[in-house]
Amino acid sequence: MNLIFVGPPGAGKGTQAEAIINEFKIPQISTGDIIRAAIRGGTALGKEFKSYTDAGKLVPDDLVNRMVQERLAQDDCKSGFLLDGYPRTEAQAETLDKMLAGMGRKLDHVLLLEVADDVLVERITGRRSDPETGRVYHVKFDPPPADVAPRLIQRSDDTEEVLRQRLSEYHDKTAPLIPYYEKAGLLRRVQGVGSMEDVRQRLFQMLRG
Ligand code: AMP
Repeated sequence: MNLIFVGPPGAGKGTQAEAIINEFKIPQISTGDIIRAAIRGGTALGKEFKSYTDAGKLVPDDLVNRMVQERLAQDDCKSGFLLDGYPRTEAQAETLDKMLAGMGRKLDHVLLLEVADDVLVERITGRRSDPETGRVYHVKFDPPPADVAPRLIQRSDDTEEVLRQRLSEYHDKTAPLIPYYEKAGLLRRVQGVGSMEDVRQRLFQMLRG
């Protein structure tokens, strides 16, 4: 199954992606995770990425396209994939169409997780992650155990100020993907509000249907 996850920052794509990849045995390709790993590596490219992510801006299309092309060529993607956070612009979507056509493959579904902006601000600014396990918590909705809490960190782009910029990038550059995939007959709208379990069930129902 070849899937794309689209949705604003904080819609729950990362959390739900984990459930989907476990259930459908496909790898998750998160461009945000790949970019953060490059930043941690401290390379010249990583430093360039950080100047964009810390400002809440999208990284230039050609850099991200190349990362995805390399990743999709790896063996584990033969069974399918879940792209999380890519494509993020219409130009990326067009490039992805060409990449897949070149590989003789096509998309099955584009999952759009819909959540209102005011809910996103509360979700994102309370988000914390465990550097030892990668597990993501929320200070209010999914609080960590007491022994884990002191080591949790906040993503440098999860502050309210940077989030506002990320939301504006989403509405300007990523939202045009909605009519793009609607026209292609691939868009599946899923409400991202409610508990994690409610959202998971909605997604699974759609994917199994
Ligand atoms: P995410 O973890 O998906 O929220 O991504 C974090 C940051 O990485 C974004 O705010 C962008 O700066 C960058 N990024 C991730 N995916 C993309 C993409 N497909 N195109 C451009 N920039 C991206």
